[in-house]
Amino acid sequence: MGIAVSNVVFDITTGCNLACKYPCFAYKDNRRATQEVADRLIDWLLDQPGDWKSLGFFGGEPLMHWKLMRWTMEEARRRAQERDQKITFSVTTNGTMLTEDIVKTLAENQCGVLLSIDGPPDIHDKMRVFVNGRGSSKQVMRAAELLLKHVDELPGLTARVTWHPQVHQEGRRVAEFLVDMGFPDVAICPVDEADYEAAGEAYVQAERELADWFIERTLQGRMPPLSFTTRYLQSIYNHRVLNKWQAQTQTCGAGKGLLGAGPDGSLYPCHRFAETPFLQRFKLGDVWTGLTPEREKFQWLNIYQMEFPFDCAKCPAWPYCSPPCIGVNGDFTGSLFKTVRGHCVWHRIHVSECIRIHETLLDNDYYHEQARQGFPIIKAGGDAT
Ligand code: SF4
Ligand code: SF4
Repeated sequence: MGIAVSNVVFDITTGCNLACKYPCFAYKDNRRATQEVADRLIDWLLDQPGDWKSLGFFGGEPLMHWKLMRWTMEEARRRAQERDQKITFSVTTNGTMLTEDIVKTLAENQCGVLLSIDGPPDIHDKMRVFVNGRGSSKQVMRAAELLLKHVDELPGLTARVTWHPQVHQEGRRVAEFLVDMGFPDVAICPVDEADYEAAGEAYVQAERELADWFIERTLQGRMPPLSFTTRYLQSIYNHRVLNKWQAQTQTCGAGKGLLGAGPDGSLYPCHRFAETPFLQRFKLGDVWTGLTPEREKFQWLNIYQMEFPFDCAKCPAWPYCSPPCIGVNGDFTGSLFKTVRGHCVWHRIHVSECIRIHETLLDNDYYHEQARQGFPIIKAGGDAT
């Protein structure tokens, strides 16, 4: 018996209208799901044990297939109600196709939105461009405004920054801009596979500035909702103040409670596997015939067999470092078990800055209060990744 699947991320289309310059795992080969696949996927998910299900829409750019996405949400909600189940939705979007009507429909369906936005227009446009090379900031800033108008109806609204160490060296300006716009969660996610050593001191400096800003705001009694920072602070706080040993040993949900569904209804450990040709060999079944015995093996995959470029036992990031993404590993090293070196380099820097934040704020009552409440943003939950 395996762990029950409760969360599926559906690659409703692999097409995208942007041509972002950083490494992006979407292969943009324009495969699109049909209504027949969506129809079967809904029933397959609701047939899984448990009363609480979650369906995420991913791509490519999912809003390029908006009609089917809307149909899937409405139909899934109706069928879940008939079975006395609860289903929640989320979408990860580049925002360029969002309209007032789409935002209203997302709000009606209580769909969590993760908007990819890299900060102020000049920074955003460095990497997030259309096929003709034009920046997408004008469309994305409009999307941000529309979403923020409905912030109370959109659970877990998140600004998701894809942070490239050689390009985005103004951590403070990015964070300040998005937090002050009113996003309840700003997730600054470094690109694992980037060359952090080539970025050198500039990246270290960017992390330092970001940490300084976090400290400054916290001392003013308004801790910024930077979930990529608070997640690590929680682990550091639990270990160093509450004496709760909490090494970041948990793997992601890939192949366990979480699966990815490709546009043709094939099931994979997560959405990243559904997108990437090398990873498609780890197919675990499909929505017509169900899961194969491969899934049983995959879910017990042992993370500790991973090959790390540095020795974890002697690494300053241990035990606060989170395990690497096996999808990134497979895509960039050809093995699920071989870690991309960039992952370690940025974790070492990020963890040491989080430790510095923690030590600087140890005398601050408000910091302790936030930590003991579990850092509110963590409770709001996050993306599957
Ligand atoms: S940064 Fe790398 S070497 Fe250090 S604890 Fe994390 S995985 Fe291990
Ligand atoms: S961390 Fe990687 S392998 Fe795990 S769910 Fe996210 S993309 Fe998939």
